[in-house]
Amino acid sequence: MNTNKKITLIIFSMVTLLTLIIVALVAIGSRESGYESAKKRAYLTADIVKNALTSHMVNGNMDQRNVFLNSLERMKELDELWVVRSSTVSKQFGVSSLANEIPRDTTDEKVLKTGKEEIVINESLQRATLRITIPYIASSLDKPNCLSCHDAKEGEVLGAISVKFDIQEDRLSSIAILLNIIVIVVLFLIFILIFISRKIKPYTSSFDSITKTLKMVHEGNYSVRAKEGALKEDKEASMWLNELIEKLETVLTGIEKNLTAFVHNRSINVNNDKLLTAKEIIEDISEIYHFKKTIETDISREDIYYRLVQVLKDKLLVNHFFIFENDLTKDERKLIYKTEGDTACCNITNDVKELCRAERTDIIVSSENFPEVCRMADCNSCKDYVCIPFSINEQKSVTIHILCKDNECLKHVKYQIGIIKKYLEETKPILESRMLMDVLRERNLIDGLTGLYNRKYLDEFIDKKMPMELELGHTYAIMFLDIDYFKMVNDTYGHDAGDAILQKLAKTMKESISENEVIIRFGGEEFLIVMKNPTEESALELAQTINAEFAKLVFNFNNESFSKTVSIGYSFFPKDTDQIWKCIKFADLCLYEAKETGRNKVIRFKPELLKNANKEEY
Ligand code: GH3
Ligand code: MG
Ligand code: MG
Repeated sequence: MNTNKKITLIIFSMVTLLTLIIVALVAIGSRESGYESAKKRAYLTADIVKNALTSHMVNGNMDQRNVFLNSLERMKELDELWVVRSSTVSKQFGVSSLANEIPRDTTDEKVLKTGKEEIVINESLQRATLRITIPYIASSLDKPNCLSCHDAKEGEVLGAISVKFDIQEDRLSSIAILLNIIVIVVLFLIFILIFISRKIKPYTSSFDSITKTLKMVHEGNYSVRAKEGALKEDKEASMWLNELIEKLETVLTGIEKNLTAFVHNRSINVNNDKLLTAKEIIEDISEIYHFKKTIETDISREDIYYRLVQVLKDKLLVNHFFIFENDLTKDERKLIYKTEGDTACCNITNDVKELCRAERTDIIVSSENFPEVCRMADCNSCKDYVCIPFSINEQKSVTIHILCKDNECLKHVKYQIGIIKKYLEETKPILESRMLMDVLRERNLIDGLTGLYNRKYLDEFIDKKMPMELELGHTYAIMFLDIDYFKMVNDTYGHDAGDAILQKLAKTMKESISENEVIIRFGGEEFLIVMKNPTEESALELAQTINAEFAKLVFNFNNESFSKTVSIGYSFFPKDTDQIWKCIKFADLCLYEAKETGRNKVIRFKPELLKNANKEEY
């Protein structure tokens, strides 16, 4: 219902109520005045009858009173009239011979008894009568004096007169008055309503138009405009509103057009409201800006990946995902992060460029439309997967592998893809520079001849990595290796032959270790292996394997074939000593013992070895 109708209805109801009250009051008033006038006529008639009867009495023609009374009864407005005698009068003058002077009903009897007048009103739809019974009271003050003729006491009831009037006409005239009033009021009401409606219509229709426009703007439709008002006030209001909507529309369209491209707007804009979209875009830009500022000051690539994981999990609400880093030179894949309890749909580690569809095509791979789009995907724990490839440079790329257990999740992920790509884009230059720094640092820490870590790496390892791992409860074994009579190779076959043998030993060691061991070229032809979480058995086994495998190798130089052996000493940290450098010395002591006792052997540290050693050194 529009405002105009509402206001008209309210006014109509109020005026109608007022009319009803007036009509009711007029009806009650006219009824009362009808009764009053009937009563007045009754008193007048009673007085006339009393005086006439007295005259009859004085003139001695009481027997003619009936003629008078009958003539009165024939009067037009008088329905009935009768006079009754009290017992006192009947006693004095004898019972009346007239039938109508005997009390007709209980009302007559009651009035004769009490001396008080009674009024009886009879109303039906067709008829309305009013009957008044008035007592005649004996009084010495009346002229002529009642007591001069009647044997009665002062105040005694001598008789009563009953007069019955037809008040139907009074009633009809009251109804006619009421009808006139109603007609006049209704006409006035109609006039008022038309007048009010015409006067307020411009305001209410402007108000309705403004309300409707605001509602549509609130729902995100900025193309609507309010109708131009007819009066000065509403014209201004609608004009200001339209100008405001126009400004909003221009600004929001600008934001959407210019910034959407900047933040790779989310693929489905769920709320079609430009204002909310603008708010989202600005929030995205602000968050991406803060993310970029934060990762710019991060030192390691691990920190950057950590932030990316936080963004994916906490801001973009992606709950199940993996981050892989691809080494395109080696064509290998490394897992950087996985959400707890999830299993990836593929476990590619090599031949990434060929086997990973996202990597090969550089296009987002989604199982939404074609579940087997990626032949490598074998998902047990989820319904769908989305793989987002992202190239860092020619050597490195990143793949985000997202898992979805239901359609709701897939819809959400699709919505977030644009923003994920934007975060990746912002990460790219910083991640690339950290990767380059890592390469440079690695190169500085790697021995050129063998490709193994150098002594600088050992220093860094002991200073940075080891304290963190020790806090987590890890233990170590340090293993020292030295080729037996190596100098002789150089002297006999030349330095190049010596280098080749060093490379062969490096290869043998690499093939013998697991991911828990790190090999370091300590210097010359001396090597050191750091074992993480070793047992007595695993340490001995590794040492014996290297010793045996190296001894099996046959070298050919200057048409001569020969084999070489290696001596190994090792000790445990913190089992044998709680100082890491002391542990290295203990391993060196074992190596020395091996050399002293015939070479080509493995010796584990034992405290007895310290007996012959230089006390100051240990
Ligand atoms: P031992 O069994 O006691 O160890 O006898 P050894 O001959 O191996 O003696 P030592 O360990 O003292 O000899 C080390 C030799 O290793 C001396 C040096 O010429 C040689 N050497 C050190 N670095 C290199 C290298 O990079 N290349 C080559 N070819 N030889 C090296
Ligand atoms: Mg040596
Ligand atoms: Mg040696």
